[in-house]
Amino acid sequence: MHVLSAASFGSSQMMTITLQDFSGSPATGGIRRLTVPLSQLQSTYGRLLRSGARILEVANGLTGSVAMVESSPAAPAAQSSGKPARKAPAKAAHADVPVNLYKPKAPFVGKVISNDSLLKEGAIGRVNHVTMDLSGGDLRYVEGQSIGIIPDGLADNGKPHKIRLYSIASTRHGDNLAGNTVSLCVRQLQYEKDGELINGVCSTFLCDVPPGAPVKITGPVGKEMLLPEDEDANVIMLATGTGIAPMRAYLRRMFDPGERDRNPDYAFRGKAWLFMGVPTTPNLLYEEEFQSYLSAYPDNFRYTKAISREQKNSEGGRMYIQHRVAEYADEIFNLIKLDATHLYMCGLRGMEPGIDEAMTAAAAARGLEWKTLRPQLKKAGRWHVETY
Ligand code: NAP
Repeated sequence: MHVLSAASFGSSQMMTITLQDFSGSPATGGIRRLTVPLSQLQSTYGRLLRSGARILEVANGLTGSVAMVESSPAAPAAQSSGKPARKAPAKAAHADVPVNLYKPKAPFVGKVISNDSLLKEGAIGRVNHVTMDLSGGDLRYVEGQSIGIIPDGLADNGKPHKIRLYSIASTRHGDNLAGNTVSLCVRQLQYEKDGELINGVCSTFLCDVPPGAPVKITGPVGKEMLLPEDEDANVIMLATGTGIAPMRAYLRRMFDPGERDRNPDYAFRGKAWLFMGVPTTPNLLYEEEFQSYLSAYPDNFRYTKAISREQKNSEGGRMYIQHRVAEYADEIFNLIKLDATHLYMCGLRGMEPGIDEAMTAAAAARGLEWKTLRPQLKKAGRWHVETY
């Protein structure tokens, strides 16, 4: 935080902070004013920012003239122009994130290092963790991006297969922390058509591809699911099945000891809350990793499961992630009203209506309208959705 001209006022000076947060009246758009002695300005300002409030203006309390204006720790401080500083658009902050380094016509050819099942005995289906070597190329990525895979072989029309996108499950440093690998979390797609079992082309290719084999990779792509750089951010994650991929990368970045050593500028101190939906306990993915984070960071990591075919929702049906969100809607709402909170959703599109329903009820209990708030969160770059 930069205090611009406040120091030029006498210490008995009163200052008025105009801020916007969810505790202000909805009728005023959540805007309220707070008057404090100049001597307390710095500490009050810091406290408000940490609470997630958006500071619109700081003014000399007696004359109303603007002494300092700043909207968030990340925003550039405006000079004493009287105009509230604007937050840098979230997208501009991601201008340096790599995209499309390798295109379909000239993909990077990586090599499989390992391909292991993530499931325990008794699980439904096949889900593998596939790690590929990127050495010798320039394929870089950050947490929350996806890569394209072109499976071997030809499609029915005799042409090469189309690209399928997969969310990256590793951090930019890769699972071995050497910065030259990428990992995916892949479920083999299987469905019945005309009484015949059909295996997904690319997901089957990836689940079967042996160590040492070449794989054609494109990308990376995507800026929707990037993690905020703010070490004090709160991160709520809603994942169904393999939608856990980006969340696994975020959580490694936050809590894995090797990752923390590699990231001197990112010592996560916020709250990370993972909601994970799977059909059965043996289908839980990356469970050991998450349990180790729970042991090491009990104040920072929270983990809530929806195990659809073992647990029942309040109406006796399958327990889905949206039922857990409804159960904790008040807590979730209290968190997302803070500017420092981001929510990420990845996996089945079917979870979205239920999550909106839960948030609608929580907002209504506070006299607010979810259908107005959600677009605001989206615009602020704090509501991130990648569902299929
Ligand atoms: P899955 O194991 O089939 O399902 C995960 C859990 O979601 C199960 O417990 C399932 O319950 C439950 N579920 C089913 N319908 C639901 C609904 N309408 N609302 C909430 N939960 C529901 O999942 P998966 O095969 O790994 O696939 C997850 C999906 O995420 C796939 O569609 C995949 O394409 C997508 N995905 C998207 C991205 C991305 O967007 N970047 C990345 C990875 C995966 P029951 O089966 O017991 O009913």
